[in-house]
Amino acid sequence: MSTQTITLSGHSIIAGRETPGNAGTTRGIDPATNAQLEPAYTLVDEAQLAEATAAAEDAVASFSSLDPGSHAAFLERIAANIEAVGPELVERASAETGLPGPRLQGELARTTGQLRLFASVVRQGDHRGVRIEPALPERTPLPRPDLRQRRIPLGPVAVFGASNFPFAFSTAGGDTASALAAGCPVIFKAHNAHPGTGEIVGRALTDAVAECGLHPGVFSLVYGPGASIGQALVKDPVIKAVGFTGSRGAGTALMATAAARPEPIPVYAEMSSINPVFLFDSALRGDADEFARAYVTSLTGSSGQLCTNPGLLFVPSGEAGDAFLAAVGRALADAEGATMLTPGIADSCRAGIDALGSQEGVEVVARGREGSTANAPAPVVFGTEVPTFLTNPVLQEEIFGASSLAIRYGSVEELLAAAARMEGQLTASLFLSEEDHATAAPLLSVLERKVGRILANGWPTGVDVGDAMVHGGPFPATSDSRTTSVGTLAIERFLRPVAYQNIPGSLLPAALQDANPWRLNRRVDGRIQLAGTAEGDRA
Ligand code: NAP
Repeated sequence: MSTQTITLSGHSIIAGRETPGNAGTTRGIDPATNAQLEPAYTLVDEAQLAEATAAAEDAVASFSSLDPGSHAAFLERIAANIEAVGPELVERASAETGLPGPRLQGELARTTGQLRLFASVVRQGDHRGVRIEPALPERTPLPRPDLRQRRIPLGPVAVFGASNFPFAFSTAGGDTASALAAGCPVIFKAHNAHPGTGEIVGRALTDAVAECGLHPGVFSLVYGPGASIGQALVKDPVIKAVGFTGSRGAGTALMATAAARPEPIPVYAEMSSINPVFLFDSALRGDADEFARAYVTSLTGSSGQLCTNPGLLFVPSGEAGDAFLAAVGRALADAEGATMLTPGIADSCRAGIDALGSQEGVEVVARGREGSTANAPAPVVFGTEVPTFLTNPVLQEEIFGASSLAIRYGSVEELLAAAARMEGQLTASLFLSEEDHATAAPLLSVLERKVGRILANGWPTGVDVGDAMVHGGPFPATSDSRTTSVGTLAIERFLRPVAYQNIPGSLLPAALQDANPWRLNRRVDGRIQLAGTAEGDRA
């Protein structure tokens, strides 16, 4: 199949209807050639945006009370619909982002796998957090009322995706999937860097809404500039939460808007991280060239445009460290820059590399070659020492692309000082063996307070989607370190607890009824009762 089989409309989809926008147009760009892609995408105005938010509000009652089976089937239908247009999606996304086909195929599989994983969570129901404390009328000195708690969806969620993951962090990516799994209608602000990809996924999602007989306001896809339409969306009183993946600048702008509303709302923003990697002496005893190649592979994959890219590398001073950096030089000399996502991102990458290279005490350790396409800067590894890192905050600024800073350290005290000075991060990686455990233990305690995920003997790129994953961390990695944007825990961001006190059984929601019609695991009187067991299914 090819994209010839799909005719793109170039319009927003508001509550199931293709809606030509009234506020101008934009186009996707092939970043390998800077050529504009067809069709032009029309942009909505604020009145059209209001149609989407009104429809989302209308959808809340029916969508939030859907039974687990129907709800899970909806998520599975989205996954199936996306898979049905997989080849067209990969072809269009590759043209719009410059990312290679195999990388995009993997990302697509991750996206549909995530939807199915979330469907299994919805079916099983633990995210509803049911707790029951039956009345104790004889309790002294005061009787206990009948108290029941469950989590309910927050309401309509505004979602913004990132350019570097056109599937997994975009239209039907992690934020959309977790909001829908929580039972929240979603309005997705289409990413202007991959508008055609957004439309194909948006149609698959819209079809799933219709095929499952849901209210059309459950999902809308709107095209418009982030700085105007995106901001207006977050200001709309109907919106009750925001999911965002992208740059620190846009994320903090949305945080400020959400906080300034008459009714402030939570913003779950994944933003910026430079993912420190700490090499202990023992890590450098093996084949320096092989180890250096692994680092360069992690650094240059997807042209370095990964939120978990290893942007800082702590290397022991001395012979072994020097030999490793020489090996990095050899490995990077063979590396060619690959097309970046947009001309703007390539320009920012070049500007960031120039700025870092001009800092006092920073030198180039290794540089690859410029790529042959329009937007393919050469990958670079810079070098410095810990005292320079400690005194110059520019060295902590994210360069989105294949750029990394190797920092030579002379003692574990220097490592601890550098880690303590670091901003919040998505990941930190330690390469070590048993003999380093005593030295690494205090570093681990510092890192726990700084990052969302700590890895041993592994590069940070590559994020598994499951129950135990944390893709989060303190600011500026995210706006809220208490949660994650990847993995099943992400669903809980869009829920809040409600307690029901002495509510008559016939008025109780199904999740809280004595008969447990949805067969949910529950905490009853302080004990976990598993559905499907005699105790769990008893009133
Ligand atoms: P971006 O430029 O911040 O764009 C993200 C979205 O925000 C777009 O829809 C954009 O719309 C919108 N936007 C931009 N400025 C806005 C504003 N002032 N108000 C409201 N919305 C606004 O990010 P990107 O270029 O797509 O992604 C690259 C960045 O994402 C990198 O910095 C990377 O590190 C980060 N990233 C982080 C993670 C993570 O998990 N932490 C994951 C992936 C990427 P317009 O395009 O219309 O402006």
